[in-house]
Amino acid sequence: MGILIVDDSKDSRDLLKTFLKGAGYKDITTAASAQEAFEALGVNGADHRHKIPFKVILMDGVMPEMNGIEACRVIKADAHLADIPVIMVTAMGEQESLNEAFEAGATDYITKPVKKIELLARVRSVLRLHQEMERRKVREKELIETLKQLSEANRVLTLLSAQDGLTGLANRRHFDENFSAEWRRAMRDRQPLSVVMADIDHFKLYNDHYGHQGGDTCLRQVAAVIGQVARRPGDIAARYGGEEFVLILPDTPLEGGMRIAEEAAAAVRALRLPHEKSSAAPYVTLSMGVACMVPDRSKEMKELIERADRALYAAKRQGRNRVKAAAEE
Ligand SMILES: [Mg+2]
Repeated sequence: MGILIVDDSKDSRDLLKTFLKGAGYKDITTAASAQEAFEALGVNGADHRHKIPFKVILMDGVMPEMNGIEACRVIKADAHLADIPVIMVTAMGEQESLNEAFEAGATDYITKPVKKIELLARVRSVLRLHQEMERRKVREKELIETLKQLSEANRVLTLLSAQDGLTGLANRRHFDENFSAEWRRAMRDRQPLSVVMADIDHFKLYNDHYGHQGGDTCLRQVAAVIGQVARRPGDIAARYGGEEFVLILPDTPLEGGMRIAEEAAAAVRALRLPHEKSSAAPYVTLSMGVACMVPDRSKEMKELIERADRALYAAKRQGRNRVKAAAEE
């Protein structure tokens, strides 16, 4: 704990030093003028790293050349030193200058002649205050760190919120955003954009029979297969609703969309997940509708989805477990 005593009177310096040493403070530096104090502190651009880190300064009010108040002001103006508490040591009759001292940044004051008990009490309380301020600074730094971690966690959450929690496929929100981006891109590049809508056949009966946990397992397995067929960069497989899935296939004509849909349907059949209640097959199957458009300004995005949806319903009407292409419109 470095204490700096600044006083032009040797007697005063010795007295303060004796009191402080007697109370167990060992690291005490004395300065006979403001200038000497500045040198000890490394005021104004000096290299502070090699200076003693003072925890408190006892500053005589009246000194030749620069007085204590002015010296205090100089110290407080140095960003590296501004936090060191300064206790003014003033003679009786100098009280009117105390206001000025506090304005200059002094933390506390004691009057001369200095009494030992008073000196130690003030030094102790100022040191405690200083320590509390240091602790607060550490806590503020920790708080800033925590806030940084929170914002990182939020970023990850946003990323996660693009994902369907159960299946790991893109969720509806992510689908909506990407579908409109792909639509615009296809319009710009004059490329065909295909959409596949898929529905697990008789999923309500499956859930009723195998329970919701069984239903979730089924959804996950089907989703994994659907995710695998949408493997080109730009392809997006999403969970569209409960047991409905959708694929966006950029730069893909209707035949290409049909091929990918058939591949997904076959892969789901190949899982051979038992489905006792299905009228379509004794295992889990998909009904699918495929539609394709080359977007232009006369067309609406939702039209493509509606066409794929109508094709899906045609597949269901015709007995499920099949892929239907949207009729030319
Ligand atoms: Mg003096």
